[in-house]
Amino acid sequence: MIQIDKLVRSKRKTLSLIVETDGTLTVRAPLRMKEADIRGFIEAKSGWIKRKQTKAREVAVASRRYADGETFLYLGREVPLRLVPERIPALVMDGEFKLTKSAHPRAESVFEAWYKKQARSVLTERVDFYSRKYGFDVEKARISSARTRWGSCSAKKTLSFTWRLVMAPPQVIDYVVVHELCHLRELNHSPSFWAQVEAILPDYKSHRKWLKHNGVKLQL
Ligand SMILES: [Zn+2]
Repeated sequence: MIQIDKLVRSKRKTLSLIVETDGTLTVRAPLRMKEADIRGFIEAKSGWIKRKQTKAREVAVASRRYADGETFLYLGREVPLRLVPERIPALVMDGEFKLTKSAHPRAESVFEAWYKKQARSVLTERVDFYSRKYGFDVEKARISSARTRWGSCSAKKTLSFTWRLVMAPPQVIDYVVVHELCHLRELNHSPSFWAQVEAILPDYKSHRKWLKHNGVKLQL
């Protein structure tokens, strides 16, 4: 289902859909138009909306400049960046990202290092949580830099997760963790594999869908 990020009602006679430059969807609708009719219209146009959103996000990512006000995803939230005078460490996050001005030329690697560190702690914690709760036997969990492969599981019981995953909402991170943990028991995507995922996360399908539609945003 397509998410409406902003709904503006006015005395207009027709409905209009605007995909903003950051990929969010603004809907302008007549005052009395029924919610169900708006929904129906959006679903009918969903192919067009998704194409526009993917394009907008690709453009937004390609034009990253690490400037004041630019936003970066962390745990599903858009966190704004502010350039600050000299400080150590070069990058901190306390409601906003604060990057030392002198580190600006190497901003991308500073950010990547920061994300990797968070990924290590967040993913280790989630793997431990689900392994303990459901009795999975994990040899080790490591962090990769894969671009579209969110996680993987080897025959040696080693799980890998890309650091980009910590940009996603917590429920989506949990879905990828549970998905890879279930591969420890079934190294395939058979119905019985999906039944195991579903037993732990009944709404896993919506998280899988989120990744499919928003995966392109999970990068610097
Ligand atoms: Zn899989």
